[in-house]
Amino acid sequence: MVTPDVYLAFGVSGAVQHLVGMRDSRTIVAINRDRGADLCRVADVVVEGDAVAVAEALMDHLEHERNRGA
Ligand SMILES: Cc1cc2nc3c(=O)[nH]c(=O)nc-3n(C[C@H](O)[C@H](O)[C@H](O)COP(=O)(O)OP(=O)(O)OC[C@H]3O[C@@H](n4cnc5c(N)ncnc54)[C@H](O)[C@@H]3O)c2cc1C
Repeated sequence: MVTPDVYLAFGVSGAVQHLVGMRDSRTIVAINRDRGADLCRVADVVVEGDAVAVAEALMDHLEHERNRGA
């Protein structure tokens, strides 16, 4: 069981065993190319798209922000 402030689910379908372990997370973000995935139903935020592309864009953004603050 995990209860982080932010749970990022990259390409996770939301099988019941998975949902039981993380559904009490404070904010759930689902990144999935299937908007009908069960994890999208419990998510606070859904990003519909390719998980790898979204992860790369997020990493680029975080890197940019880190360099800007340095
Ligand atoms: C007795 C038992 C206990 C279990 N306990 C646990 C447990 O504690 N925790 C657990 O997590 N699992 C557990 N499982 C396994 C669970 O049932 C699922 O098999 C597992 O959670 C599925 O993982 P998944 O979402 O990674 O894969 P999948 O169900 O195959 O889903 C993949 C998802 O990723 C999406 N996707 C694929 N590629 C991309 C892409 N490039 N971009 C965007 N989206 C993409 C698909 O649309 C899909 O929604 C257990 C199983 C059993 C039988």
